[in-house]
Amino acid sequence: MAEERRWLMEQRAIRCVENLKKHRFDAHFMLDCQSVREEVKGLLEPVKSAGFGGSDTVRSMGLHTLAREMGKEVFDHSVPDLTFEETLAMRKAQQSCDLFFTSANALSETGEIVNVDGIGNRTNAMSFGPDRVVVVAGYNKIAPDLEGALRRIREVAGPMRAKSLGMETPCAVTGVCSDCNSSMRICNITTILHRKPMLTNITVFVVGEELGY
Ligand code: SF4
Repeated sequence: MAEERRWLMEQRAIRCVENLKKHRFDAHFMLDCQSVREEVKGLLEPVKSAGFGGSDTVRSMGLHTLAREMGKEVFDHSVPDLTFEETLAMRKAQQSCDLFFTSANALSETGEIVNVDGIGNRTNAMSFGPDRVVVVAGYNKIAPDLEGALRRIREVAGPMRAKSLGMETPCAVTGVCSDCNSSMRICNITTILHRKPMLTNITVFVVGEELGY
């Protein structure tokens, strides 16, 4: 059963990658996180700075640490004990870093990348600013189509992310999105990358593992 499920998910991931490529994204299916780390090392090599949007996937793969170990200037607003002003400066610096890392809240099998954001540093940086953007997403993020991707965010990614961040939102209590008006709402902005943005190179690694929310 587990083997068949894995096979099914991989087939979906491969279809997703094919359609992302048709949409001019530099998309790749990767068997595991270690393979992604090897690719990321190569991408980090020539750059001076790396920015990180809030992402459980990217953090769990240790890409922040890898960038620091390689001597890169790292813009990460999640470092403990930063003041508000310091986190703000980090978020702003992410907009013009050389290489920006993020995950996706959902990918569609039809080749779109969908994200929601509360502040906008992540959704802004992934469409314009950094020279290159790297999106890493486990195959659990894939929905059949754009409508399914938006639904996945409402039903799965939003509530789980709000809960993980300790947000006082209705979904973090009930697990159900109520399209809330909370000041802590994490879904203020929705971006859909239908095709590669004209001036931003986007590499997408779809990983054959469950990662993030
Ligand atoms: S809109 Fe509000 S309730 Fe819905 S997922 Fe976002 S934060 Fe949660």
